[in-house]
Amino acid sequence: MANSKYAYVRSFELPDNILPGTYMIVRLDGHSFHKFSTDHGFTKPNDETALRLMDAAAIQIMQAYPEVTMAFGESDEFSFLLRKSCNLFNRRSSKIASTFASLFAATYTYRWAEFFPNTPLQYPPSFDGRVVAYPSSVEIRDYFSWRQADTHINNLYNTTFWALVLNGNLTTAEAHGKLKGTSSSQKQEILFGQFGINYNALPERFRKGSVLYRQEATASVETPAAGVDNTPGQGSITATSIVPPRRPRREIVVEHCDIIGPAFWSSRPSILG
Ligand code: ATP
Ligand code: ATP
Ligand code: MG
Ligand code: MG
Ligand code: MG
Ligand code: MG
Ligand code: MG
Repeated sequence: MANSKYAYVRSFELPDNILPGTYMIVRLDGHSFHKFSTDHGFTKPNDETALRLMDAAAIQIMQAYPEVTMAFGESDEFSFLLRKSCNLFNRRSSKIASTFASLFAATYTYRWAEFFPNTPLQYPPSFDGRVVAYPSSVEIRDYFSWRQADTHINNLYNTTFWALVLNGNLTTAEAHGKLKGTSSSQKQEILFGQFGINYNALPERFRKGSVLYRQEATASVETPAAGVDNTPGQGSITATSIVPPRRPRREIVVEHCDIIGPAFWSSRPSILG
């Protein structure tokens, strides 16, 4: 089969491997989620349940691919950081992007009813994916700062916009017009002056997005009870068994913290290590 007279067509497939020894970031983004969020009645400007479903799909990716050290999510997008040494799919860009996007979309769909028990899924959601290589931790830090700054800019705009529409009785066109060219502090003034909303008191999830990383589990989780081994296929062990050294188990945590400043990174060196 492999050597049939037709097999030459395979040579038309061009290599798309990512440069070795570089960080890779996979960014996924929901297709037409402006429409999807309207069709499914998402709360504006921020539907918290939808954001938690995004987090759940991202956790699934991190569980499936240990090379992912960190992820950042906002709105309908998620970015995943892969180690420099990662050799997943021989670093073939389209394999990585398509596999991540399809696992993410499948998980989002698979778990939809658990998060939205009263909202039937009307059609299948899809996500696009791309892989970008970055040479050093400087660009990685700047990449995540870029996304988190975007979260803030969009959230401030959307929060003010929807306050004007829902509480200020402006049409959407009037609200867009009123916000055109306004600075960050002018938007915060509209929010506070007209609606009594203190922007900085809004949930951190909305202002800072979701930050996922692996944290060493507490000792009680790492150490199995005597005679018990939860590893599938290992059976139970006795106190006299020779237990192979375990890699410390790392659990995936979701936070909504600042990743623009240096503190997040300096206290978690394994993310860029
Ligand atoms: P594209 O297919 O080009 O990505 P899009 O319609 O998905 O188009 P985006 O720029 O990705 O546009 O923006 C996503 C949109 O989805 C947001 O502007 C917002 O309207 C909506 N959205 C996503 N998540 C939420 C959420 N948790 N709550 C409310 N609305 C959301
Ligand atoms: P990769 O992740 O590299 O694609 P793979 O295990 O998916 O690895 P493929 O070369 O894509 O390997 O082959 C798909 C395999 O899935 C087939 O060899 C076959 O074993 C199985 N398979 C797919 N569809 C069917 C089907 N309808 N009935 C039975 N087996 C199937
Ligand atoms: Mg989108
Ligand atoms: Mg988007
Ligand atoms: Mg194959
Ligand atoms: Mg196949
Ligand atoms: Mg296959």
